[in-house]
Amino acid sequence: MNISENLKELKKELPDNVSLVAVTKTKPIGDIMEAYNAGHRVFGENKVQEMESKWQEMPKDIEWHMIGHVQRNKVKYMAPFVSLIHAVDSLRLLREINKEARKNDRVINCLLQIKIAEEDSKFGMDKTEALQLLDSNDFKKFENIKIIGLMGMATFTDDEKQVSNEFRSLKTLFDSIKEKHNMPVLSMGMSGDYKLAIKNGSNMVRVGSAIFGERG
Ligand SMILES: *Cc1c(COP(=O)(O)O)cnc(C)c1O
Repeated sequence: MNISENLKELKKELPDNVSLVAVTKTKPIGDIMEAYNAGHRVFGENKVQEMESKWQEMPKDIEWHMIGHVQRNKVKYMAPFVSLIHAVDSLRLLREINKEARKNDRVINCLLQIKIAEEDSKFGMDKTEALQLLDSNDFKKFENIKIIGLMGMATFTDDEKQVSNEFRSLKTLFDSIKEKHNMPVLSMGMSGDYKLAIKNGSNMVRVGSAIFGERG
């Protein structure tokens, strides 16, 4: 695996408006430093404690994104440093993030994870649930959170039409609320489907194995 070469090739492919979260879960610090030394600064992890220990050990100009499902009792470990939480799927989780952000005197950026996949193993909110949350008075009281966009994961399948349809349904929701709620970010696409995601309007992709190789 030539990590810096993979990264360079991938970045060449991405349109200017699409940002890259390099997903480093399970990968050792040496591998991540290779991407860092090639100039990349935005990394994604899916476990809070793994992200926290990498944050401790690595240069402090890295932006750490939490891309996985978050348990409320883990929020406190990342509240001092996390730069974007991608998979927020409940008001209870937002309340906890708001509380821990306030303790750290920060405003934490979040995305709402919307369920778009047909498979029901994926986390996320229904579209109507998300709209209700954004319009709720509870949400409006949170001063230490900013919801800057939406995130979704498509079904894991070779059926490109289905994957495109799922991405497009999230893009449609995103377009209908981004101005009203001041949300610039639409996070969709991973190693296997980022091209389809970009075609369907993604402006943030989360790519791991295509840069760092398969996970063990
Ligand atoms: C692991 C993971 C990714 C990256 O997956 P790859 O297939 O390795 O690119 C993206 N998003 C989430 C939420 C993940 O957990």
